Amino acid sequence: MEFSDIESDLTEILFTEDEIHAKLAELARRIEADYAGTKPLLVGVLRGAVMVMADLARELTIPIEMDWMAVSSYGSGTQSSGVVRILKDLDTDLHGRHVIIVEDIIDSGLTLSWLRGNLATRGAESVEIVALLRKPDAAKVEVDVKYEGFQIPNAFVIGYGLDYAEQYRNLRGIGVLAPHVYS
Ligand code: 5GP
Repeated sequence: MEFSDIESDLTEILFTEDEIHAKLAELARRIEADYAGTKPLLVGVLRGAVMVMADLARELTIPIEMDWMAVSSYGSGTQSSGVVRILKDLDTDLHGRHVIIVEDIIDSGLTLSWLRGNLATRGAESVEIVALLRKPDAAKVEVDVKYEGFQIPNAFVIGYGLDYAEQYRNLRGIGVLAPHVYS
């Protein structure tokens, strides 16, 4: 799906597919350098991080493994509840592993700060975070994100895996959702 397919649902185009891929390539080069000689486990947070995981993983030239977790955050609204519940857990034993959590977006930071703490208690050698987007104005807790893509304003964004009520995940780029869609 292209921006032109949902033009009236957007107030702003933030990043095109090409800009996203260029940013992921930059992050991949840093990850390759930092994890040379190891085989990190990329942990994707369903469902929003599916596109980031798919493109980042293919961009990386070092061996990696992938696993997935699903945690509840937003439901169908646009506000973070702060309540985190595991809907699907990892299948991988984390003992001695270098874990990289792959996230689409950090808003309040509540989900990730909880998730990092949770994974750290499972015997991982290290736990770092890659997040494509971050809303610095919205942070309720500080999360140390080693690999950060773009900082964005405090608006509700969709596309490239990010949904509103399960729609728009297949938009190639990322844009700001028009308020008339959710009000
Ligand atoms: P946090 O706990 O950091 O507030 O929220 C993280 C999760 O909320 C993200 O993984 C994502 O699922 C959802 N989220 C936060 N901001 C947005 C946004 O602007 N658009 C969409 N579609 N989801 C968001």
